[in-house]
Amino acid sequence: MKLDDFPKEIRSQILPRHEGRLVYRCVGCGREFGIEELLYVCPECGQVFLIHDLNFSRLTRISSATWRRIFDYRKLLGIPALKGIYRYHEFIGPVIPLEAVVYLGEGHTPVVEANARLQEKVGLRFYFKNDGQNPSASFKDRGMASALSYINMLVRTGKVSDVLAICASTGDTSAAAALYASYLAPHIKSAVLLPFKKVTPQQLSQPLGSGATVFEIPGVFDDCMKVVEALSENYNVALLNSKNAWRILGQESYCYEIAQDFEYEVSHLAVVVPIGNAGNITAVMNGFLKFFEAGVTDGLPKILGVQSEHANPVYRYYLEPANQKRQFKPVTVKPSVAQAAMIGNPVSMPRVIHLVDRYNQLAGQQRVFFAEVAEQDIMDWEIIANRNGHIACTHGGESLAGLVKAVRQGVVAADDVAVVKSTAHALKFAGFQEMYFEQQFPPEYNIKSDADLINAPVYVHPRDLRQVPAPGKPLTDKALKMFVHRVSEDIAGHLKLKKR
Ligand SMILES: *Cc1c(COP(=O)(O)O)cnc(C)c1O
Ligand SMILES: [Zn+2]
Repeated sequence: MKLDDFPKEIRSQILPRHEGRLVYRCVGCGREFGIEELLYVCPECGQVFLIHDLNFSRLTRISSATWRRIFDYRKLLGIPALKGIYRYHEFIGPVIPLEAVVYLGEGHTPVVEANARLQEKVGLRFYFKNDGQNPSASFKDRGMASALSYINMLVRTGKVSDVLAICASTGDTSAAAALYASYLAPHIKSAVLLPFKKVTPQQLSQPLGSGATVFEIPGVFDDCMKVVEALSENYNVALLNSKNAWRILGQESYCYEIAQDFEYEVSHLAVVVPIGNAGNITAVMNGFLKFFEAGVTDGLPKILGVQSEHANPVYRYYLEPANQKRQFKPVTVKPSVAQAAMIGNPVSMPRVIHLVDRYNQLAGQQRVFFAEVAEQDIMDWEIIANRNGHIACTHGGESLAGLVKAVRQGVVAADDVAVVKSTAHALKFAGFQEMYFEQQFPPEYNIKSDADLINAPVYVHPRDLRQVPAPGKPLTDKALKMFVHRVSEDIAGHLKLKKR
């Protein structure tokens, strides 16, 4: 729809106005720094940042009804820069000119209600939000669209040139980083560091396909992270891990979309997310806070962060109920099917601690909860979900298993409505499904396959059939007839079909 076709009174607000004044704000000491260059940690105290808009109060002066119309009308615009995460420009990057926005089709992923059978099994009304339906098949594209649009702005204004973007990754960050960087070639090149044999073949294929330089490093993600931190401290590179606060900003789009999809009524929602490096849950808390403070939404939803028993530092931290007594201790991770969340020392932990307090304070009660689930539950619930029409990855299974646990414990009530995040597409983690179906899990996962959930192909080749077709060697006439007849008879027998 063309701008002139919108109602007059809203027309002037449809295109964003770039009135934000963004700064990096340290979550440790609160000091602020300009965004003219890429900073990752506070030069004063070494803590991570969140990006803050000094001009935020202007957003609170717009009525909630107007905000809702702005976002809803923007859906109708044909401008690519406003089709993805920057539909919420005022909240995501109010300094980014639309010409600098990199849009590869990210965001606005479907919210799919579970069928009655699955809702009954879980015990409440719930939806999956399928972030696997992003361009590189995970939610990381949201953060990369933001980080690369910002870097693109620096490139276009001549503040940087020949950028080398690097990241450590459990697989999906590197896929997204390499994809977005390749779009900006040759101005931006990318290199990614992966823990050797700790990402799936599909994930490895992605940065290779996008033309990134791929390094495989012994150890786990936490070791790769130390190496890229050293690189970014000592060399002229752009760090694309969620330590980079621009990533968080882009990932906030996830909750703005939920708000819009639920008509901005979010108080009754329970938003369930898996936790790895904790960038995702940081963005979800910060985003819901911003929409609430600006008056766009009616309240703050419950948030449930889920971790596997094999990588549970955040869950363990919050086991201690007394605020002052809590102490963060990194954990040594064990193999997990939620492999992209297999992180023992989350970079965003200081942001989480800061935001959980603020979130609960503003809500006037505890609204952020954590759950821990067994590897067995993750696999079982992933497969159960997918047998009911979903495309959840193992982390989607982890989220659902966490929801089930929270419902049993009364943390999530039967009259809450849950939105469960599937962070990636099932296909990226098909190898774990294969291990489950073939009962081939190595013992350290501690997973036994439920016979009712196992599935395998049936090879049909009647023993006494002398001729079967082969590639380049089709059958004809009688031989073909015989083949079709015998094979269809076998299949009908297997399926117990009745003759008509
Ligand atoms: C990155 C990732 C996570 C963990 O998200 P964090 O922001 O690191 O907590 C979970 N699932 C998938 C599929 C991921 O790629
Ligand atoms: Zn500081």
